[in-house]
Amino acid sequence: MELLERLCKTSGISGFENEVQEIMKKEFAKVCDEVEIDNFGNVIAKKGKGKKKVMIAAHMDEIGLLVKFIEKNGFLRFVKIGGIDDRVLLQQRVIVKSKKGDVLGIIGAKPPHLQKEEERKKVIKHTELFIDIGAKDDKEAKNMVEVGDPIILEPNFGKLSKDIYFGKAIDDRLGCYALIEIMKQIDIKESTIYAVATTQEEVGLKGAGVSAFKINPDHAIAIDVTIAGDTPNIKEKESNLKLGKGPAITIVEASGRGVITHPKIREILIKIAKEKNIPYQIDVIEGGMTDGAIIYKTRSGIPTGVVSIPTRYIHGPTGVFSMDDLNNTIKLVVNAIPKF
Ligand code: ZN
Repeated sequence: MELLERLCKTSGISGFENEVQEIMKKEFAKVCDEVEIDNFGNVIAKKGKGKKKVMIAAHMDEIGLLVKFIEKNGFLRFVKIGGIDDRVLLQQRVIVKSKKGDVLGIIGAKPPHLQKEEERKKVIKHTELFIDIGAKDDKEAKNMVEVGDPIILEPNFGKLSKDIYFGKAIDDRLGCYALIEIMKQIDIKESTIYAVATTQEEVGLKGAGVSAFKINPDHAIAIDVTIAGDTPNIKEKESNLKLGKGPAITIVEASGRGVITHPKIREILIKIAKEKNIPYQIDVIEGGMTDGAIIYKTRSGIPTGVVSIPTRYIHGPTGVFSMDDLNNTIKLVVNAIPKF
């Protein structure tokens, strides 16, 4: 639990994953034969000496912001890194990861009292928002932060009920945690397992692409989070995934623009889930992609599957998930890999 909390609270927007990298490198080293960091920042851990190569991937990067401009009066303007809904940004507390250390900020906007009727009806776009770091002018602000500094949403992690937890960046630190646990538990003779903690997934699945090319695996599994539909105002036909009902085995992502799971991998995952009495759900999604979408079309094609942990409030400051689903994801992948 301590490791999962640390992973969620650590900072790592796309391209600035170094803090997560450090944790992954250290944890992999305890349970794998070799660990390296490639040119792209991916952490690649290797275990086993078998002929068949299996790649398992989860991304280290999280959605966040980046300082774009410092206003004369000391407020910061920013760009979004990854798909964040503008509606969740207002009034969030953020941390600018400046070279001099962490700088706390509040995302502000014009108060409702000063907004015209028309303005109040509209979503305030991120370009209209600003970050207040308490600086009296640009000179003071520039002493604290620089243009180009990454910004994370304020770290949080905790428990809501017996099995239901919340945290920042659970997309995809849950996957990172799963990778470490899988490498710890897996013990196979015929294969070599490559666990890859990938970079820059949220901005175009980049790290997974280059690492899959390098490893050239025979099979691959991406572990990520997916959209739970068990909250008010989501219709069952939009998403019928529920927290606590088991890992989601993907059939297609983004209506087929993302991964289309290889039939062999799909069948093995479902068969193993049934045999081992692991609850599972089937995921067919209209939007959203994972690292699996790029791995499966690398080189001449790599049979790939995706196993996901259903998550509420995805791409917001705090996600909610079931610890049982996370543990069952680990169990499913550990048992399925030897069957590839
Ligand atoms: Zn993700």
